[in-house]
Amino acid sequence: MPELPEVETIKNDLRKKVISKKIKSIKVILKRTVKSNFNEFLTNLLDNKFISIERAGKLLIFELKSKEMFLLVHLKMTGQLIYSENGRIIPGGHADASTIKDLPNKYTRVIIEFCNGGKLFFNDTRTFGYMKLVGKKELDEIVSKFGPEPGAKEFNYKYLKKLLNKRTANIKSLLLNQQLIAGIGNIYADEILFKAGVAPERAANSLDENEIKKINIAAREILRAAIKYRGTTFNDYVDADGNTGNFLKKLKIYGREGKKCQVCGEIVKKKKTAGRGTHYCSKCQS
Ligand SMILES: [Zn+2]
Repeated sequence: MPELPEVETIKNDLRKKVISKKIKSIKVILKRTVKSNFNEFLTNLLDNKFISIERAGKLLIFELKSKEMFLLVHLKMTGQLIYSENGRIIPGGHADASTIKDLPNKYTRVIIEFCNGGKLFFNDTRTFGYMKLVGKKELDEIVSKFGPEPGAKEFNYKYLKKLLNKRTANIKSLLLNQQLIAGIGNIYADEILFKAGVAPERAANSLDENEIKKINIAAREILRAAIKYRGTTFNDYVDADGNTGNFLKKLKIYGREGKKCQVCGEIVKKKKTAGRGTHYCSKCQS
């Protein structure tokens, strides 16, 4: 699943491609991908333009020029936005070669065509992703439910301390809870906890001040670095300019089960915590 750094990268890349281009046609191939009134969706987008692209957590927000309407795009597990112009394909989101070839293909759910001939394809193999058209009021309601993201001013030691002190759930599940902290998924949660030296199954209210401080710093540093490196790419992730994200080489714990911990040499383990495959070092994290 694309997390904050990957979605931030897509946002920045698509800004260069689709802003201010008039929408000439829209083709919805899989109706349930569109979670709004279908006719309203079409009439509001047609002949309109995107004037900005913003992001809240992992949600992309395309602002439309007229009517104070916003197109929300959530890529969920396997969604992908691919911009194609003059035969050049620029994919963003989770993708493997088979999902970006011969567009549109069997994974294409929605196509937005611009008057310059450019096309934005929404591809999604597992179809959990969605597009939704909302007004300003609904957008504000949706965005208000997101917790602060690491990097935001409101995300700080004080916020985390208050949040963690009163909760008994394990720290990994809280890092993944978008209503408490926005943007972190499985990869970065594991990286943050490794860097902070905190075991993923620890109850939030068992963490001491020093551990909370370390999580605060690790979350900020790791997401900042991941954005700088354009996110983490496995063999199936390509960004909006067709580049693979290269934070993969910087991962210290995620995906390293069975290998030696780069810090202490202990074998990295993987187990299920918060319903997700969780990587950790039993020596470095306690
Ligand atoms: Zn270790």
